[in-house]
Amino acid sequence: MCAQKYWGIPRSEIPWFPKINTDKCTGCLTCVNFCQNGVYTVEENPNPDRSSLRRWDKLKKRPRVENPFNCVVGCSACAQLCPVGAIEFPERKEIVKTIRELMVKYQAK
Ligand code: SF4
Ligand code: SF4
Repeated sequence: MCAQKYWGIPRSEIPWFPKINTDKCTGCLTCVNFCQNGVYTVEENPNPDRSSLRRWDKLKKRPRVENPFNCVVGCSACAQLCPVGAIEFPERKEIVKTIRELMVKYQAK
């Protein structure tokens, strides 16, 4: 459980963190090496499947989102650096709406 807060809201209630599209990821690990917040880790693939048509299945090392709530709300730097556009975030207007609703909820307490 993450004890961090963002504008009085428990960070764990804000769904802002990267998701990796495994159909696109090439395993370059740029995201892992770039983020200084420990969001990502390197996953060792125990059974690389060389016969698979998906590159992801063949990778020996792959990125994994290990600590999603360490992600800085509003940051999407890793997504911009990913050479194949494999990192996805929620729509900004949706997250702003969610945060506004949560602020009302937590200010009311
Ligand atoms: S930067 Fe993109 S392609 Fe490279 S490992 Fe991360 S998600 Fe995969
Ligand atoms: S958006 Fe920023 S803080 Fe979040 S995982 Fe990417 S580089 Fe790290």
